[in-house]
Formats: sequence, structure tokens, C-alpha cells
Amino acid sequence: MTISENLQQVHRRIAEACRSVGRPVQSVTLLSVSKTFPSDAVRAAHAAGERCFGENYVQEGLDKIAALADLRSQIEWHLIGPLQSNKTRAVAEAFDWVHSVDRLKVAQRLSEQRPAALPPLQICLQVNISGEASKSGIAPAELPALAREIAALPRLRLRGLMAIPEPAGDFEAQRAPHHALAALLAQVNAQQDLHLDTLSMGMSADLEAAIAEGATMVRIGTAIFGGRVRPAA
Ligand SMILES: *Cc1c(COP(=O)(O)O)cnc(C)c1O
Repeated sequence: MTISENLQQVHRRIAEACRSVGRPVQSVTLLSVSKTFPSDAVRAAHAAGERCFGENYVQEGLDKIAALADLRSQIEWHLIGPLQSNKTRAVAEAFDWVHSVDRLKVAQRLSEQRPAALPPLQICLQVNISGEASKSGIAPAELPALAREIAALPRLRLRGLMAIPEPAGDFEAQRAPHHALAALLAQVNAQQDLHLDTLSMGMSADLEAAIAEGATMVRIGTAIFGGRVRPAA
């Protein structure tokens, strides 16, 4: 299967998932996760009509953004992987979105370092929705206070929440963490006047469950680009 054929299939899955819960298909944005794949793969997906791309590793993302400089005005680049404070400047200068913010310090640096000539950096807060000790993301209890502080930073625009739930087997089990993230977004919006509109959740294996629970952005890698060989740590 080519990237273009895979994309058609992913769009069919998204459309079917939307239809089955009565949501308009335009309410879900496909974020193509191109981590570990070369810039030519992004070029192929772009040629097939995709405009939003997600990268996990800062340096790999920066290299691909540079290699695809000719398409820069047509592509929205999203950082979806962990971000250390010493890499914030390059990210603030090069990316359009960061989904993985889970510390005030990182957000403050991104705001200070976002160039004045660019629009505000779009931000999602990563929530540790499955409560695993090993994964990044803030605890749900910390979310309201952190959202309030980050929403006030001048060069950022807080858009919503992101989660990477623990893999679950069946549809009903997959729904639970997505339901919890959607409930947190609703809670923060009810308590604070933030108008958060983005739920970044759903990957190749669970996009239907995520859409059923209100995902507005699904992050799809494998189903578009194929299986990844994990890079050496
Ligand atoms: C790799 C990755 C994805 C895509 O996962 P697939 O299962 O390949 O679709 C989505 N979100 C994050 C944060 C990832 O690291």
C-alpha cells in the first residue's frame, strides 16, 4: 500500500467513526505522525493533500522542517514528543504547535522565546490520563492550576489537552481514558473562561474510540507510513 492509499483508508476510518456518532467529519483533524520516516514520506503525504504533521523528536523534526522549507507555508508542524527546557528555543522558532507541555517552566520559556514575527505558539497540555508512573504528562488534579498559568502567557495560545492512553484491547476499554480526557476539558472550560477547543487523542489503534469520545485531532503514524523500527536510544 502506498502512503496515498493508506491515507484514503485512514480518512475512511475517520469518516465512518464520525458518522457512527453523528459528528461532522470536518470536526476531526488528521495529524500525520511522520516520526522516523524521511522527509520524502512527508512530501508524499503532502502531495496527497495532508497539511498537518507531527514529530516526536525535536532534532528530527527540525531537520525535516529544514528539508521541507519549500513547503513551510503550507504545512503546520506539531511537536508531540517530550520537550526538555534546553530545546525550547529551537521549538519556539520552528514549530506551530506543541502538544506535550506538562511543566510551567517549559511553557514560560516557549512564550519568552516565541519570535514576535510569528503567531502565538499553539499549545496542548499533556495529561497522564492512565496514571502510569513512567509516562510524562501532568496528573489530572494539577491541570486546573497549570492551565490557568499557561493560558496567561503572552506568546502562547492554550488550545486544549493531549493524552497517550495505555494501550487497551477492545473498543469499550479504549473509550474510558478518552472519556476521562474529554471530561477534564469540559471541567476546565466550565471552571475557567478558557474556551479550550482541542482534544488531541487517538492513534492508529484507537482512533474510533477517541472520535466517539470527542477527539478533535487524531495523531496517526503507523496506519499512514507503516511500521516503525524503533531508533536506538
Ligand atoms: C508515535 C505517536 C503517535 C502515532 O502512533 P501510531 O500508533 O503509529 O499511530 C501518536 N502520538 C504520539 C505522541 C506518538 O508518539
